[in-house]
Amino acid sequence: MAFANCREQVYIFSWLTDYTDTKEMTMKLKEKLKEEGYSRFRGAVDASVYEYFNCDRSWKAEWYLKEDHFRCCGCKERCETSDPEGFQLFLDLG
Ligand SMILES: [Zn+2]
Repeated sequence: MAFANCREQVYIFSWLTDYTDTKEMTMKLKEKLKEEGYSRFRGAVDASVYEYFNCDRSWKAEWYLKEDHFRCCGCKERCETSDPEGFQLFLDLG
C-alpha cells in the first residue's frame, strides 16, 4: 500500500511540474510576442482553424496578431499562420 501511495505522489508531482513549466513558458512567450509588436487578437476563431492545425487545445488558445500574422500560445505546438481565413474580428458597434 505504501508503494502505491508513493507512486501516486510521484505521478502528481510530475504532473505539477509539467503544468508549471507550460504555464511559465506560455507567459514568457506572451511577453516575447508583445515585445515583438504582437497584440492580443480578440475576435472569433473558427473551429476549422484548429482542425487545420490538428490542435486539441482550442479551449486554451490565445491568438496574437501582428500585421497579418497570427500566432497562438495556447498549446505546445505554438500554431502560427498568415492565412486570415477562419479569423473574424468582432466589430465594435458601441
Ligand atoms: Zn495549438
